[in-house]
Amino acid sequence: MKKIIVKDIEIHLRRKKVKNLNLSVHPPRGEVRLSVPYNTSDDTIREFVLSKASWIKKHQDRFKNQEIVGVNKYISGESHYFLGKKYILNIIYIDKNPAKVEIKDDAYINIYIKKEASIEKRAKLLKEWYRKELKLLIPPLIKKWEKIMKVSVNEFGVKQMKTRWGTCNIRDKRIWINLELAKKTPECLEYIVVHEMVHLLERDHNDKFKAHMDKFLPNWRSIQAKLNS
Ligand SMILES: [Zn+2]
Repeated sequence: MKKIIVKDIEIHLRRKKVKNLNLSVHPPRGEVRLSVPYNTSDDTIREFVLSKASWIKKHQDRFKNQEIVGVNKYISGESHYFLGKKYILNIIYIDKNPAKVEIKDDAYINIYIKKEASIEKRAKLLKEWYRKELKLLIPPLIKKWEKIMKVSVNEFGVKQMKTRWGTCNIRDKRIWINLELAKKTPECLEYIVVHEMVHLLERDHNDKFKAHMDKFLPNWRSIQAKLNS
């Protein structure tokens, strides 16, 4: 990977085994990536980028605006959610790492971090804290429902997902839980764990699946409605 600049646009250029020039712009900062076939000349690359300059700018501006509207800055006073409850963020500066996160007085999320830590660093720290907390909360739920449902989960993981609350790999008996669930109520988390585990009994979201859900978690529909609102 190489960085090139064409008309004040910074491009992350990668030469690889592709047929065409592929250009993309990525959040959150509008990074521009371009992959080109191995034998593409510098002039061709330059011309191509210039021809797409206004398209690139348009996309970069869109990400910039998104950043201004409603995105966290990780400064004291900001509201953040944990298990369905609103907490106020306290940023406390420390001289020496390690940085850490803790709940204080059931009202605050304290982040201890170096003053110069970037927004990305703060965001990542909080995210990893959410992940750690979920990884403590999920195993007892799995255990509880394995007994009730008479299934077994081999493995679980937590990851950020854009479009789903969880997934289940039936063959490997592995479930993935969306990191965002750390912000939702414990009943939402349990509902998703149960939902994914029901997939070990039924692959599709059919009547049989719903009958299992009705039996195990009779109020699942109202939890689902809350979660998706
Ligand atoms: Zn499902």
